[in-house]
Amino acid sequence: CGIFAYLNYHVPKTRRDILEILIKGLRRLEYRGYDSAGVGIDGGNNKEWESNAKSIQLIKQRGKVKVLDEEVNKQQDLDLDIEFDVHLGIAHTRWATHGEPSPVNSHPHRSDKNNEFIVIHNGIITNYKDLKKFLESKGYEFESETDTESIAKLVKYMYDNRENDDISFATLVERVTQQLEGAFALVFKSVHYPGEAVGTRRGSPLLMGVRSDHKLSADHIPVLYRSGKEKKSCSALICLCLCFYYVAYSAVIEHTNRVIFLEDDDVAAVSEGRLSIHRIKRTVGDYPARAIQTLQ
Ligand code: GLU
Repeated sequence: CGIFAYLNYHVPKTRRDILEILIKGLRRLEYRGYDSAGVGIDGGNNKEWESNAKSIQLIKQRGKVKVLDEEVNKQQDLDLDIEFDVHLGIAHTRWATHGEPSPVNSHPHRSDKNNEFIVIHNGIITNYKDLKKFLESKGYEFESETDTESIAKLVKYMYDNRENDDISFATLVERVTQQLEGAFALVFKSVHYPGEAVGTRRGSPLLMGVRSDHKLSADHIPVLYRSGKEKKSCSALICLCLCFYYVAYSAVIEHTNRVIFLEDDDVAAVSEGRLSIHRIKRTVGDYPARAIQTLQ
């Protein structure tokens, strides 16, 4: 029902800080109503942020954000004082549409037992049964009753069947969204793309807060169109901090008042602190760049 993600890029924060930011973000979305809550964060306890990002820890709970917060503090094997230079955390409050409220049906959903890809979702995937049938026929094993889990498996399927090793996270997500029917706002995180965030939407609102300690170099983010294999080059923006959120300005306003409203089928990706917005080329017409707006 509510999604919130927070990425810090070379702004060191402890795991405790990151969890606090995520939980606070969820609390701001609480008024929307929900039945479960969960977070996905980097799982390692090493000095290098890259090696920490090679594993993902999920904490999910039925009930209030308070219950999730208590569960977070119970985690024995998570060093809360370890500092991350770069970290993407994603968080979700769920209003169940497919599958009863339970820890396993809560978000983030995962691609596999190693948590290679995780996703949070607001909305409903109407063709999830067909996707599930297809993915099961390819050997992917499902653990929940949700429509969302098919998205987590599908992104891994796209990754496992990639034609080259340097395929971008944004391209994978773009391929996933081409197979989805229904309404969604999604944010993805992966051990294969440390420190990278990808968000997309169709039918459900999603916006990004952008913060940079550098003077922002543009008031517009150019949209990159893709037709076939060719991709136009991008002049992106350096972002030091970024969050996605669902409708609630209050969740983002404490981090930044500069936001970008994503449009249907935009795929927004932050890689190495650079934000870019992609979409499949449209045959008719053109899309304007996405303006960075200032909330009052
Ligand atoms: N359809 C998804 C589920 O049942 C997402 C629900 C939501 O928007 O919270 O898990």
